[in-house]
Amino acid sequence: MALLRDAWTGALDLVFAPVCVACRAPVSTYEKERRVCRLCWMRCRPLPVPRCARCWSPVDPRREPSPVCRTCAEWPAGVRAIRSPYAMGEVPRALVHALKYGGWSSVAEPMAERMAAMGLGSETAEEARWVVPVPTSAARLRERGYNQAALLARGFAARTGLVAREDLLRRVRATATQTALHPGERRANVARAFAVPPSGAAELRGEHVVLVDDVWTTGATALSCVEALVEAGTRAVSVATFARVVPELERS
Ligand SMILES: [Zn+2]
Ligand SMILES: [Zn+2]
Repeated sequence: MALLRDAWTGALDLVFAPVCVACRAPVSTYEKERRVCRLCWMRCRPLPVPRCARCWSPVDPRREPSPVCRTCAEWPAGVRAIRSPYAMGEVPRALVHALKYGGWSSVAEPMAERMAAMGLGSETAEEARWVVPVPTSAARLRERGYNQAALLARGFAARTGLVAREDLLRRVRATATQTALHPGERRANVARAFAVPPSGAAELRGEHVVLVDDVWTTGATALSCVEALVEAGTRAVSVATFARVVPELERS
């Protein structure tokens, strides 16, 4: 049976030769996941060390270790672990682009697998029950056919024993794309763009939720979501994104 299946898969590969979503090189039939080649995964880099224990931003090794860093000192106390398996770079950017703009919804699975494998720390692991994706606008949902953050949240939840909840947070206002905006403009652009629907507040009270998005750039979007969740009574929020923009790396 396995032989027959292999022969069938092999025949399919001849017709629809699978290529890596990131580099377009052929992906071997024997690769576990037939979306991203092994070389591309090897080219993905973790966030640089040493990192802030809370937000994983790179910190100056000469400074005293502290529970918070300059980046996260001003954030609400409800913000717990902020985690991404990879620093933004050529391959993560290509994968996010394929997922977001290329219609490659299936690449969300291996991306979510990497996010689930990194772990969110013991506090989050013990407390969190729900995974909440950053909501997209109705217009973008129509255009893409899916919310990429929701696909990642489902994949992440399935692998961590948590439950994905797309009904606990809504986008209440359409926003311009963040791509061309400076950090201050990004915050203003997404301020009060999210809200917990009345039905969600009772369920969120006292909970620790994991917020999921594809990329952490300045944190403006995620922190706006955190604000809405905390305002509705959520006790703690951890954030998992597939990639994180590290300004120090982007400049080099
Ligand atoms: Zn590749
Ligand atoms: Zn920090």
